[in-house]
Amino acid sequence: MPSPTYHDVIDAAQRLEGIAHTTPVFTSRTLDALTGAQVFIKCENLQRAGSFKFRGAFNALSRFDDQQRKAGVVAFSSGNHAQGIALAAQLLGIPATIVMPTDAPAAKVAATREYGARVVLYDRFTEDREQIGRDLATEHGLTLIPPYDHPHILAGQGTAAKELLESTGPLDAMFVGLGGGGMLSGTALSTRALAPDCLLYGVEPEAGNDGQRSFRSGSIVHIDTPATIADGAQTQHLGDYTFPIIRDRVNDILTVTDAELVGAMKFFMQRMKLVVEPTGCLGLAALLNEGDRFKGQRVGIIVTGGNVDIQKYAALLSEAS
Ligand SMILES: *Cc1c(COP(=O)(O)O)cnc(C)c1O
Repeated sequence: MPSPTYHDVIDAAQRLEGIAHTTPVFTSRTLDALTGAQVFIKCENLQRAGSFKFRGAFNALSRFDDQQRKAGVVAFSSGNHAQGIALAAQLLGIPATIVMPTDAPAAKVAATREYGARVVLYDRFTEDREQIGRDLATEHGLTLIPPYDHPHILAGQGTAAKELLESTGPLDAMFVGLGGGGMLSGTALSTRALAPDCLLYGVEPEAGNDGQRSFRSGSIVHIDTPATIADGAQTQHLGDYTFPIIRDRVNDILTVTDAELVGAMKFFMQRMKLVVEPTGCLGLAALLNEGDRFKGQRVGIIVTGGNVDIQKYAALLSEAS
């Protein structure tokens, strides 16, 4: 498939109309006072299934032909992509199979099953999930939908920034969490179309800075699974579709520590009454690191998701700062 353009984001937005939530954009006087900027928070933690992943998943599945719809979709993920695919498949009447590790949080396995998906468990230490996914795809004629490196996925993710910029008008800077780059590349398509001069930053956990290294070296860097609380950004490399778009349209990739993520998580909870998962805190944590560099400017942040285990959330919030 050819590399997607902003036209594909517009097409995705039409498919998502009336199905995905147009999530709210919140502001905080405290945050504006802290940064000197006017900050706009796009709340994808309030998206259906709890993260922006539903956008790309529904967009991709809505393009299946009759045969693909009948046979079904397969995805491998222990996180938000699984829930996004499972819900999108349920809404479209497509059978879904999700390959998850045996040690995935029970709540996530249960949520995926509640959306009607068949869950196939595998042992992370002895089995290869991509191989299992591919075997299921060939044996049963299922269509494999990857979590980020797919034109319809990244075009769907780009609809969040499109909505944000349509509601705020052009912004001076935008901060977006980065894993495999579906969200950032889709955001880049929307931002370059609607606010060409906006500075666009991807934000990664410091322990998994493959995206930053790829961006700065000009070719895709692979790393081992990084140890970070940002489980949605534990990806090992950018994708063949996502990397070139990021390389050509993003201004820089920044990193934040786990402690900074916890600080942002506490801010969201205490000051804005928003439940945000650690990965969803990447954008705010990076902005807070910039001090008053964006003083007097209009800054956008995409809060990417809110799916966090209650025990884990409580433990992180009660960490001393
Ligand atoms: C998947 C995910 C990300 C990273 O998105 P990519 O498209 O892989 O870059 C960030 N935040 C949350 C909450 C996610 O689920």
